[in-house]
Amino acid sequence: MALNNRIPAGELAQKWSTYKSTCKLVNPANKRSIDIIVVGTGLAGASAAASLAELGYNVKTFCFQDSGPTTCK
Ligand SMILES: Cc1cc2nc3c(=O)[nH]c(=O)nc-3n(C[C@H](O)[C@H](O)[C@H](O)COP(=O)(O)OP(=O)(O)OC[C@H]3O[C@@H](n4cnc5c(N)ncnc54)[C@H](O)[C@@H]3O)c2cc1C
Repeated sequence: MALNNRIPAGELAQKWSTYKSTCKLVNPANKRSIDIIVVGTGLAGASAAASLAELGYNVKTFCFQDSGPTTCK
């Protein structure tokens, strides 16, 4: 089996810009059909989950120290 790490080609300083300008975008109509699982709901996980849910993705969160509801709708 061949491993493909998908590192963008080009100069290191340009890799992120190149990736952003060439990556495939999700059609807004398809966002609700995409499930995203966020593991860990600290500051980083919770803010990512909230932002992705606001964008329309179907987000589920899991955290072993959580005390409240764990699904963003
Ligand atoms: C004592 C203390 C005081 C602090 N005071 C401040 C402050 O006053 N102001 C400030 O800005 N910052 C403060 N910080 C720093 C701040 O808390 C962290 O920078 C911030 O919480 C990091 O957020 P995070 O989302 O990266 O990680 P975390 O908040 O640690 O979130 C990670 C979450 O992932 C969960 N998790 C980990 N592994 C798994 C797994 N396998 N499955 C499911 N869930 C998992 C954990 O339970 C946790 O809830 C303080 C930190 C400490 C320790």
